[in-house]
Amino acid sequence: MADTQSSAPATSSTASRPSGMTHAFSVDVEDWFHILECDEAPDPAAWKKMESRVERSTTVLLDLLDKHHHTGTFFILGWVAEHHPDLVREIARRGHEIGSHSHLHGLVSAAKPADFARDLERSLKALRAASGSEIRCFRAPGFSIGPDQAWAFDVLADHGITLDSSLFLSARAHGGFPLDRLRPFDIVLPDGRRILEAPVVPLRLPKVSLPWAGGGYLRLLPKAALLGLMAQAEHAERPVVTYVHPREVDPAQPRMDLPLRRRFKYYVGLNTVIDKLDSLFAAHRFGTISDVATRGLKDPPLLVRRAS
Ligand SMILES: [Zn+2]
Repeated sequence: MADTQSSAPATSSTASRPSGMTHAFSVDVEDWFHILECDEAPDPAAWKKMESRVERSTTVLLDLLDKHHHTGTFFILGWVAEHHPDLVREIARRGHEIGSHSHLHGLVSAAKPADFARDLERSLKALRAASGSEIRCFRAPGFSIGPDQAWAFDVLADHGITLDSSLFLSARAHGGFPLDRLRPFDIVLPDGRRILEAPVVPLRLPKVSLPWAGGGYLRLLPKAALLGLMAQAEHAERPVVTYVHPREVDPAQPRMDLPLRRRFKYYVGLNTVIDKLDSLFAAHRFGTISDVATRGLKDPPLLVRRAS
């Protein structure tokens, strides 16, 4: 259970929470300047010189989880663990699950298997050192494992990963794994090893798929719509995998000089997220990705074929 010694005020809303299913709350723990595919974002060599805001904004999320007595899974960059080991320890101390979000936030879709393996090893080493525990969960930056990166599951299994949350079940800019599944499922590797997958399932509309439970859409959609979509998923016995970044609860973060469309995507609705999460947390039960993937209903397995 999460530590209850939070500075956040206690809530009375937990008493009225429906006795429904548990949904997954997940955080990709990276700093405000870890923006993907952005020329203005600094190279890893310059990260150390940037103002770091990740501890402060992650603590805001930790306090909100404590307020509602929920847990979650924190996919942490190995680089963040190296530079902020106390933050990793604090996340673990409050009872949350720790996973890897790679070391340097590179897209899997842009990596060769050997480079991906090296980066994963670095991140696991840093996370093990900071947390004192083995790391079993992984999420690729930008959900960047698509059908052409199925080799990544072998690399993950080789390194002790048993639970993945890297699949976004529709086409998207990078990665995207269009697949007719709605719940967690097993990925079965050619040699019979299995990885449990807790995918992000978008809302499938006639012309577009909306990843409403995280990122820009969570910031953009009104609270009533989010609550309605949560209720709909719960009615269908489908757990929702929500995801946020610490920078999304940090309206005061410095702004990068991005093209207009990306500026909107990254900075719209930053001051709405805490209030929305507060309402979602009050109305539904949230736990770790492991809670959701191992205890609930599962969809049929995905068999990965050996590359020919
Ligand atoms: Zn990320």
